[in-house]
Amino acid sequence: MPIPKAALSERIKRGVFLLDGAVGTQLIAGGIDVGTCNDYLNVDSPDIVSDVHRAYLQAGSDAVTTNTFGANKYALARHGLADEVVGINEAGARIARQAATDQRYVLGDIGPTGDFLEPLGRLKADELRDAFARQAESLLAGGADGLLIETMTALDEMTIAVEAAKSAGAGVPVLASMCFDKAGESFRTMMGVGLEDAAEKLVSLGVDAIGFNCGTATLDEYVVLAENLVSAVRELSDDVIVFAEPNAGKPQQVEGEVLYKVSPDEFVAAAESILSVGVSMIGGCCGTSPAHIEAVAKRIRKTA
Ligand SMILES: [Zn+2]
Repeated sequence: MPIPKAALSERIKRGVFLLDGAVGTQLIAGGIDVGTCNDYLNVDSPDIVSDVHRAYLQAGSDAVTTNTFGANKYALARHGLADEVVGINEAGARIARQAATDQRYVLGDIGPTGDFLEPLGRLKADELRDAFARQAESLLAGGADGLLIETMTALDEMTIAVEAAKSAGAGVPVLASMCFDKAGESFRTMMGVGLEDAAEKLVSLGVDAIGFNCGTATLDEYVVLAENLVSAVRELSDDVIVFAEPNAGKPQQVEGEVLYKVSPDEFVAAAESILSVGVSMIGGCCGTSPAHIEAVAKRIRKTA
């Protein structure tokens, strides 16, 4: 008889949980033009998206992240697709669900809008809440096991996204990740949010996991960031999981292209250091490929 799959909320508390790597940069590596609405591929070219998920599952990821990073109504509006929120997110979750069989999980991906709340920007809190709730509901309707809110830089937008995600699915795990950069001796988001402030707010909102992703740090800096984030979260809670999705190193501009040059071996070394300081969920952001994830899977499962 097959082993019944544990609820995601239980599984993530049990040992190391391996996330996937980048979806966007993998689609570009697979020939999709920069500037294409990646999220619309869920509707338009599901096989291309499915191939990315399958490559990560084959590499050993415990979960795949849906191709819906920009599938909120504000980001889709830039492609004239604001009315397609439900279809794009449901399709994204379905594609990932079909790929993630047996003991694997699907995380519905929610990214930032690219705008700011009033008075700094044009976003109205109520409309933003509705927009994130619509995206979250559609991801869950398509079969996501949990929701991953990532690459946030503003704490007010993150707060609304978490509240909307929690209202969309009672008891569904919510993972919240912000994009921190090195700022002097500490780390801050582009909007000036420090680790302590982020941890305090996110713990109070009742998220299951707090993490960092993307950014402009070097791998060595990501290790320090992980250590500092773990201390900030542990000051407040023993239960909330800390997770990390570093880029494949610092982005480099080469002839107008952004490149991430860290090899799978270098990435594994950093991943091991990050895990050793108390992070229990790890994956990769921009520039990480199935090869990076496979290298981490081999290392952590050898010692498991
Ligand atoms: Zn990234």
